[in-house]
Amino acid sequence: MAILQNLSGTEDILPPQPGQGAPMADTGVWQALEARAREILGRAAYREIRTPIFEQTALFERGIGEATDVVGKEMYTFKDRGDRSLTLRPEGTAGVVRAYIQHKLHAQGNVQRLWYTGPMFRYERPQKGRQRQFHQLGAEVLGSGDPRADVEVIAIATDILRALGLENLTFYLNSVGTAADRQRYRDALVDYLTPHKADLDPDSQDRLSRNPLRILDSKDPKTQEIAQSAPSILDYLAPDSRQHFDQVQQQLKDLAIPFEINPRLVRGLDYYTHTAFEIQSSDLGAQATVCGGGRYDGLVSQLGGPETPAVGWAMGLERLALLLQQRQAVAAAPLDFYLVSRGDRATAQTVKIAQTLRQVGFSVEVDLSGSAFGKQFKRADRSGAAACLVLGDAEAEAGTINLKWLLSGEQTTLAQATLLDSAGALHQQIAAARA
Ligand code: ATP
Ligand code: MG
Repeated sequence: MAILQNLSGTEDILPPQPGQGAPMADTGVWQALEARAREILGRAAYREIRTPIFEQTALFERGIGEATDVVGKEMYTFKDRGDRSLTLRPEGTAGVVRAYIQHKLHAQGNVQRLWYTGPMFRYERPQKGRQRQFHQLGAEVLGSGDPRADVEVIAIATDILRALGLENLTFYLNSVGTAADRQRYRDALVDYLTPHKADLDPDSQDRLSRNPLRILDSKDPKTQEIAQSAPSILDYLAPDSRQHFDQVQQQLKDLAIPFEINPRLVRGLDYYTHTAFEIQSSDLGAQATVCGGGRYDGLVSQLGGPETPAVGWAMGLERLALLLQQRQAVAAAPLDFYLVSRGDRATAQTVKIAQTLRQVGFSVEVDLSGSAFGKQFKRADRSGAAACLVLGDAEAEAGTINLKWLLSGEQTTLAQATLLDSAGALHQQIAAARA
């Protein structure tokens, strides 16, 4: 394996290159994505939590479930030098819930609204929108079983996607009821599937006894066809579960958030309860799901904490970045000044001038090449700066600096000593030049 090649399933996210359409989402796209999300989560009083990238393997086995593909096939698990079994986190919720219990965030007596973002690791077959190191943004509400909490997290997810200008999204909603509801449903499902066992894909045959609900989200066409006519979990909800689901739907309607009910959208583990949802994009090909979430009232206690209802979601940021990139909707943060200089005396002054301007809020890029002015001016044009600052021997001598507005070509000479006094006016002129 060549050492000058990143590993399969990982990706370098490069800075934007001025004037070039990058083939892949660059850090400008990522920053725009993260900034919009932060803003929307902040407005809803969600606070950021950062947990470690690796944890004890047992946390994920218990917190995600041993019967899942993630734990069964996809984890990056290794022994460290102290012979402990560690795992690179494949998702965010288990770590967040561990921190919630460990630091007794429940003892604060209020609902905890948390969000996180960062890299996750799963050993999967790499393809467009599916990597081995990928990034998620997640939101969790811990400590409320109110259907309003389900609707709140859903509304935030749809707000983020809307703020990014994404279209062609479909929101699928379901209820998986309580563990008791699912037990009754499970029996009916097994009764229905057993006569079809020979036609199911091998994984699904295997799941028939272990985890039959998961057969419903098999990607095998023949299995899907059989699943189409399976009994619906919605017919097995107890009255309380039905009421929770009805309230979620009613509130979504009140918010004019369109949804489609998909009774085959299930999560097969005991700690999932009630609401389950997914948001898919028709612009992404096979890797269509951009956001998945739901209620997990049993997880906190499953991991050893007090009974705590909870609901949340996670978005796949690579998939969002691909969509944003396709729309080319993101402009890189613009540069205010490109500073060119020539001659020892002038060059020596550039550091101080750049620093002064940055301290009063301008963005400044200094040309360090020492090449001829002509070449530096070309780079200034390409930089996308609002103005070029020019410092030659004559200006250095006189204590002045030339300013050339790159769009209009207008030029003025400023005294270096009064640069700070001109800052307010310059900010306004830059804003006007860009308008
Ligand atoms: P999928 O069915 O696509 O494998 P999943 O059910 O495994 O998804 P979740 O565990 O619910 O996914 O994760 C939430 C979101 O994280 C997904 O909807 C997707 O956008 C993103 N995601 C999951 N795995 C990957 C991956 N390997 N590469 C990129 N994004 C991913
Ligand atoms: Mg997966």
